[in-house]
Amino acid sequence: MIASPALRLILDSDALAANWRWLAARNPGAACGAAVKANGYGLGAVQVVQRLAATGCRDFFVATWDEAERLGPLPDGCALSVLHGVREADVPAARSIIARPVLNSTEQVVRWRQLAPDDPCDIMVDTGMNRLGLTPEQALSGLLDGLAIDVLMSHLACADEAAHPMNDAQLNAFAELKRRIKARRYSLANSAGICAGDGFAFDLTRPGIALYGGIQRSEADGHIRPVVQPEAEILQLRDVPASATIGYGATFTTPYPMRVAILNLGYADGYLRCFAGNGSAMAGEVSCTVLGRVSMDLIAVDVTGADVREGDWLRLDYHLPSASAATGLSQYELLTGLGSRYQRRWT
Ligand SMILES: *Cc1c(COP(=O)(O)O)cnc(C)c1O
Repeated sequence: MIASPALRLILDSDALAANWRWLAARNPGAACGAAVKANGYGLGAVQVVQRLAATGCRDFFVATWDEAERLGPLPDGCALSVLHGVREADVPAARSIIARPVLNSTEQVVRWRQLAPDDPCDIMVDTGMNRLGLTPEQALSGLLDGLAIDVLMSHLACADEAAHPMNDAQLNAFAELKRRIKARRYSLANSAGICAGDGFAFDLTRPGIALYGGIQRSEADGHIRPVVQPEAEILQLRDVPASATIGYGATFTTPYPMRVAILNLGYADGYLRCFAGNGSAMAGEVSCTVLGRVSMDLIAVDVTGADVREGDWLRLDYHLPSASAATGLSQYELLTGLGSRYQRRWT
């Protein structure tokens, strides 16, 4: 038998569903999908897909065929797209797994024509981000003629900045592509793009971070709920006298006698060193500051005045916008960095 871990993520099913519903309701004329790449942004892709499918989501996006395979069969009526398309090495997987590739380059389009010319595929066109995707010229060159395109998509570079001129430039470029390339559906908006206004939604939106509690734009404030709550167990309590140091590098010196809790959580769990001096955990209603450096598997927090015992669990302060502001990590990094050592417990 394997002992149960001393760190866990409490994952809120109701909040996940409510976030999807709020995002879907921004654009009643469009379907709302879900990006579940990187193991559902660290939460667990299988569990996320189950819950969102039960809420009404039908279109899911992963990055790779490996992720598609790990997801296993999707719930009835749901479809999966693989954002990185089909490399030569992906051909066997693309033959056996039921999912659409998102074709990004001329080479990928040619490969797909040899592999499954009549099967539906998605197409990514780059409208200014210069990441994955065909150039508009390639997309309009006749390269796509005769393909069964389900979703023609592009991706916004700056949708989290409401006033950025890239947003309208990309919107206009995509609208022009829509006029000239026939597809069953058109899709442009990620989480932030959904807040950018009706014109960005087209037929299908592709939120990721906002489903999981990330807030990229002020429009989402007060609507998007936190989904992820990390908790760690107290492995040891110690009374540290004044003028002693704590942790690697002896970077923290106790200004007065402190009661210190050692928690089972460290940078190998995505709780990176930038939380030193910035992080805290809650013991009941008492906020407990992280003291000294974050170790690989451990942190020390100040529990002076808190009523705690060895074996108690503390809630880490992990509200994504404030943790991001405090550490300089993006909300995406804060989620996807959460490691494999947590027990993931859905409420
Ligand atoms: C990751 C991704 C999304 C989701 O983006 P968020 O910013 O997390 O909402 C949508 N579309 C594509 C192509 C992506 O790679």
